Amino acid sequence: MSFTLAIVGRPNVGKSTLFNRLVGKKLALVDDQPGVTRDLREGAARLGDLDFTVIDTAGLEEATDDSLEGRMRRLTERAVEMADICLFMIDARTGVTPTDEVFAEILRKKADHVILAANKGEGRAADAGVIEAWNLGLGEPLRISAEHGEGMADLFGALLPLSEAFADRTARAEAAAPVMDVSLPEEDGGEAEAEAAWVPSEERPLQIAVVGRPNAGKSTLINKILGEDRLLTGPEAGITRDSISLRIDWEGTPTRIFDTAGMRKKAKVQDKVEKLSVADGLRAVKFAEVVVVLLDAAIPFEQQDLRIADLAEREGRAVVVAVNKWDIEDEKQDKLKALKESFERLLPQLRGAPLITVSAKTGRGLERLREAILKAHAVWNRRVSTGQLNRWLSGMLEQHPPPAPGGRRIRLRYITQAKTRPPGFVVMCSHPDKLPDSYSRYLVNGLRTSFDMPGTPIRLTMRGQG
Ligand code: GDP
Ligand code: GDP
Repeated sequence: MSFTLAIVGRPNVGKSTLFNRLVGKKLALVDDQPGVTRDLREGAARLGDLDFTVIDTAGLEEATDDSLEGRMRRLTERAVEMADICLFMIDARTGVTPTDEVFAEILRKKADHVILAANKGEGRAADAGVIEAWNLGLGEPLRISAEHGEGMADLFGALLPLSEAFADRTARAEAAAPVMDVSLPEEDGGEAEAEAAWVPSEERPLQIAVVGRPNAGKSTLINKILGEDRLLTGPEAGITRDSISLRIDWEGTPTRIFDTAGMRKKAKVQDKVEKLSVADGLRAVKFAEVVVVLLDAAIPFEQQDLRIADLAEREGRAVVVAVNKWDIEDEKQDKLKALKESFERLLPQLRGAPLITVSAKTGRGLERLREAILKAHAVWNRRVSTGQLNRWLSGMLEQHPPPAPGGRRIRLRYITQAKTRPPGFVVMCSHPDKLPDSYSRYLVNGLRTSFDMPGTPIRLTMRGQG
C-alpha cells in the first residue's frame, strides 16, 4: 500500500458510492442494526495502476448524543490524522452548503494534501456547483461522478504525483524494496497534470447523432455506417437496438448512434414528418456527444439546419458539419468554397468546426467523416494543464491588456480549466462585471487557436474575488 486516502464530506454527497467504486465490490452498506456505529470503513482500493488504502467516513448521519457538527469534526480530524491525502467531496448539484464550509475550514487547517471533488457531476445540473466549489479555497475542484464513473481519470491524475512522494517514503521505509513504477504517463515540461485522454470504450461508447432536414440523407448515411440496410431489417449480430439508439462497432470504435431513422418511420405513419423531425432533432442533440449536422449539398444551410446547429452549440455538444450528396455536385471546388463562406457567416459560433463532404449513397468521405468525429470528440474532452493556461494568459494580457474603466485596470489573475465535455475555463478577475464581452471573445478565440480546440463550444466564466 503506497498511501492512504480518506474520503470526507457531509452525509449524502456520495462518499460511499466512491468508496465502493474504488474498492471494486459492493461492501454491505445496509445498516440493519440501528445504533451500530460504522464510523470509519477501510478498504483496499485500486485506480489505474495505483494501489492504496481508502477510508470512508460514513456514519455521520447516525444520531448520537453530541451534535452533528461536533461529531463530524472529531471524525474528520481522525480521518485526517490517519490519511496521507484527503478527498473532500461536495455535491455539485446542491452546490456549496454551510456544512461544506465547516469541513473546508478543518481541512485547510489540518490536512497536508486535499483533493477537492465535486461529485454528482454528470450533466449540466452540476455546472454551477463545480464553479462554486472554487470558493472553498482548496484549489481546483475535480468534477466527478462516483455513480457513473466519470472523472476517474482526473482523480487518477491528481493522485499520481502525490502517490509518487509516498511511494518514495515507502521505499525508504522498506529499505531497498522495489517500488512500483509511478512515472507520469505523459510528460508536459515536468508538469504534474497530465492531459486526460478520453477514449470511447464498451462501457462508455462514443455517442453520435445525425441531424438535418428531411431528405438530407440521414437514414441513408446511418445505413451506410451500419452496413447497408441493416437498419431496416432490425437487430442483428453486432447491433443492439434500444428505443433510441443503435449500438455498433464503427471500425473498432464502440459507438451509439441516435436512431433518427427509426423515429422518422414512426413519423411517417403519423404523417407529421416535418414537425416530428424537429422534436426528433432536439432529442438527438440531448443524446449525443458529437452532433453531425447533415446538409443536402443542393440546399445547404436552410433555417432548420441553422437552428439545430445553433442548438447543438448551446447545449455544449461538439459539432461536425457534413455536406451530403456530393456525388451529384459539379464544380466541386467552387461549391466547397461557397459552402465554407456561408458556414463562417451563418454559424460564427461554430468557428473552426469541420466541414466534410460526403456521399451517403456511395460511401465516399465516410472515413474522413469518422476521423473528424473522433477528433471533435477528443477536442471536446480536452484538458489543458493549469500551468500551460497561465503561461498562455500572461502572453495574452501582455499582447492586449484588459481595459481600465475609470482608471482602474481590470486584473485577470489566474485561469484554470474547470471542466471538459465541452471545455470550460474559469478566470479569476478583479471586476468581472466590468470586463467587456469583446475581451472574453478575445480570450475564447485565443484558447481555440492556441490549444487547438476548433469547433467545440468553449465556456469561459469570469469569477470575482480572485
Ligand atoms: P455518503 O452519505 O456521502 O456516503 O453518500 P452515498 O454514497 O450513500 O450517496 C448518497 C446518494 O447520492 C445515493 O443515493 C447515491 O446513489 C447518490 N450518488 C452518489 N454518487 C452520485 C453521482 O455521481 N451522481 C448522482 N446523481 N448521484 C450520486
Ligand atoms: P432522411 O430524410 O434525411 O433520412 O433522408 P434519406 O436517407 O431518406 O434520403 C433522402 C433521399 O436522398 C433518398 O432518395 C436518398 O436515396 C437520397 N440520398 C441520400 N444520400 C444521398 C447521396 O449521398 N447521394 C445522392 N445522390 N442521393 C442521396
